[in-house]
Amino acid sequence: MFEFDADDIAQRSSTGTLPTKTQVDELVAAAHARYATLEEGVVADYIPILAEADPAWFGLSVVGVDGTAHEAGDTGIAFSIQSISKAFVFALVCDELGHTVVHEAVGVNNTGLPFNSVVAVELNDGSPMNPMVNAGAIATTALLPAGHADERWQRIRDGLSRFAGRQLALDGEVYRSESFTNHRNQALARLLQSYDRLAIDPVEAVDLYTRQCSLAVTAHDLAVMGSTLADGGVNPVTGERVISPESARDTLALLASCGMYERSGEWLFEIGLPAKSGVSGGIVAISPGKGAVGAFSPRLDPAGNSIRGQRACAYLSRALGLNLFASDPQPLVSPSALAHEGVRS
Ligand code: GLN
Repeated sequence: MFEFDADDIAQRSSTGTLPTKTQVDELVAAAHARYATLEEGVVADYIPILAEADPAWFGLSVVGVDGTAHEAGDTGIAFSIQSISKAFVFALVCDELGHTVVHEAVGVNNTGLPFNSVVAVELNDGSPMNPMVNAGAIATTALLPAGHADERWQRIRDGLSRFAGRQLALDGEVYRSESFTNHRNQALARLLQSYDRLAIDPVEAVDLYTRQCSLAVTAHDLAVMGSTLADGGVNPVTGERVISPESARDTLALLASCGMYERSGEWLFEIGLPAKSGVSGGIVAISPGKGAVGAFSPRLDPAGNSIRGQRACAYLSRALGLNLFASDPQPLVSPSALAHEGVRS
């Protein structure tokens, strides 16, 4: 069981809006200070370049749906987005092809197995199961309509850039490092191909997926990208509509069930928010209608989720009232008060 370490923080209900700017600023700073010295977990090294990350990096950003940013720590350090790209590529594909197509082609249920599981595909008759594990993400990327590979890549990069509100760049070192070592993803793509579950050539699909994972972002970017999902698909900083409200809703539903891999249930139970993590140490957690948390710290738990990031999200979910399931009862209205208002039962 993962220790979220925020049980002493009072749960504010999710009703209404974020607290005042000063309060959010203070709570983000407090969450950062509380977990900044935590040294549990290990930096990912199965993609060799990721091992060079400084384990001390820790950035925390909250961007509200009014576009206001609240930040602490290393929120300007760039890192590769990795699996967090899956959420936003899914959002673009869902927006283009619709709810039913992605549901049928990829699926929406959790595998209960690690993100790069081959067994999960075999156990499910070749279904990649959901777009948040590697097999499902490769299948989803392959669905994006485009005439050729370059156009598909431009559409992915431009789409993710619109979520971030700035042009995102490919980290060439990460792309090369992962391209030399992603044998398992190539195997997953071939396996999908053998089940006739991949819309394009497997080599092209894995290359595009590796590129999308290599886009460089900051914790601040993640909070803006998440806040676009929290704001019905409109980027709250640029004002641009990136996807429809329905596609934002569908993406958040998937993040709630599958975003934290086999730990998604535990995460939802403790934190109550749709979220997505990546092996470079990023996490985005979204509070629909309110905003999003972008966290970055490279030390990971065994499932591949940032330890400081998870704890900071648990803290902020309670302290800012982000948990979707935490409601306040409405005050009871007595029958005599209603009669006084002229309401008849
Ligand atoms: N690019 C990484 C991979 O395919 C992404 C995994 C992750 O962030 N969990 O293994």
